[in-house]
Amino acid sequence: MTRHVPALVIGGGISGLVCAYTLRKAGIDAELIEASVRPGGVIQSFTRDGFLLELGPQSFSGTAALRQLCDELGISDQVVQAPSRAPRYVLVAGRLQPVPLTPPAFFTSGLIGGATKLALLRDIFGKTMPPEPDESVADFVRRKFSVQLLDRLVGPFVSGVYAGDPERLSVRSAFPQLYEAEKTSGSIVRGMLRLAKSRKGPRENPTLQTFRDGNETFVTALSRKIGSAMRTKVRVIGISRRENGVFDVRLDGEGDSDPLSTGALIFATPTDVTGNLLGQLHAAFEPPLATVEYASVAVVSLGYRKSDLGHALDGFGFLVPRSAGLRVLGTVWNSSLFSGRAPQGHALLTSFVGGTTDPGAAMLKPEELATLVHRETAPLLSIKSEPIFSNVKIWLRALPQYNLGHADRLAAVSRLLQNFPGIWLAGNYLRGPSVGSCVERAVTVAEEVRQGLNS
Ligand SMILES: Cc1cc2nc3c(=O)[nH]c(=O)nc-3n(C[C@H](O)[C@H](O)[C@H](O)COP(=O)(O)OP(=O)(O)OC[C@H]3O[C@@H](n4cnc5c(N)ncnc54)[C@H](O)[C@@H]3O)c2cc1C
Repeated sequence: MTRHVPALVIGGGISGLVCAYTLRKAGIDAELIEASVRPGGVIQSFTRDGFLLELGPQSFSGTAALRQLCDELGISDQVVQAPSRAPRYVLVAGRLQPVPLTPPAFFTSGLIGGATKLALLRDIFGKTMPPEPDESVADFVRRKFSVQLLDRLVGPFVSGVYAGDPERLSVRSAFPQLYEAEKTSGSIVRGMLRLAKSRKGPRENPTLQTFRDGNETFVTALSRKIGSAMRTKVRVIGISRRENGVFDVRLDGEGDSDPLSTGALIFATPTDVTGNLLGQLHAAFEPPLATVEYASVAVVSLGYRKSDLGHALDGFGFLVPRSAGLRVLGTVWNSSLFSGRAPQGHALLTSFVGGTTDPGAAMLKPEELATLVHRETAPLLSIKSEPIFSNVKIWLRALPQYNLGHADRLAAVSRLLQNFPGIWLAGNYLRGPSVGSCVERAVTVAEEVRQGLNS
């Protein structure tokens, strides 16, 4: 028998969890359907042999929305912050070199040559406009700054955020603030300063953070609040719309899989699932969503005795330019950032391999990936012996790519949605892939749904 629910959220990753929680907090009896055995999506933490591992995001930026949520959920006392001045390194000329994080450090850094520094001065005092067609991140950096900046800093940063290819990522979609800065001020530096000044509310704390017992604390706290209104191991397999605008939703899974009907349907699922389900309402939904590329990523966690490491691991970790010829994209020094990540006298290092510039990496066996990461990182950190612990998690569809044409694809979907009132989209392919961006989008969607239902 079909049961009616006021709002239904599909997908219990962080986007869906926050959306369902926010709706319920507003007094709307929203329900959530999650396909897998556990909520959280790519956020997964677990402890083995005294190591606390993060299989997805290692940490996240402390945004205002996240802080408020943690307060509401009663988990603020469990937040742990990384040292705010922890240096980040980049592998250049075979050595790990500190990334300049402040303007004075940038101008004095040996990583950046005179031509790039001059280009920066030209940006500060000059005026340029972004070209009309969508521009790749690589073209943007070459046009405004230099090939060296692209290779040494921007490329590695792009690997760290998107596991993506700067030649294919759209600057307008992947880094909208840069695009807007140039468009509104004719200069990236002036535009970014103007943006920072115009930001309302308390200054955001960019420090990276997690929870004492791992990122999953966030998932558990949200799940507890949502309670029995969330069902796991149940998948949404079909949707249709009645003439009166109500949606019928077909489910498949363990336990209660009776169909549901609703007036408000929120998709917090990856683009392939969203495209497939929306495609059942109108075939034109599927192409723009199904063509969003995803990076595959292997997350390789290795544990060592500290006495076997010849490096102080005094910082966040390091990123590797593609020109360095390694397959490792970067490594986070978890146990240097947060306590309780490794047993006493040990260190936990998490490396990322793959991304869109090396799709074959995700096809390697876990043992091969662990060996590869040890082989490539051991010389950089003067590691004297084999890891005493390893864990490999492969995500075949880890991160959506905001590639050239992304904005057009999303605009096409938005236009189609105008004919389907009652449908909203949340998720990491819309306003940024970070946990903070997903949370902000989910809160906004919940507010729009609330207003939609009230009107
Ligand atoms: C390896 C890795 C490292 C990362 N590192 C960072 C980091 O350091 N900092 C940071 O801020 N962000 C990081 N991110 C990005 C961030 O973690 C993700 O973008 C974010 O968690 C995605 O959340 P989501 O809810 O939008 O999607 P997902 O987590 O993908 O959740 C989607 C959910 O939908 C469910 N679902 C799918 N189909 C159906 C269906 N038919 N019916 C019901 N449910 C369905 C899935 O099971 C899943 O639970 C990282 C991501 C990865 C993969």
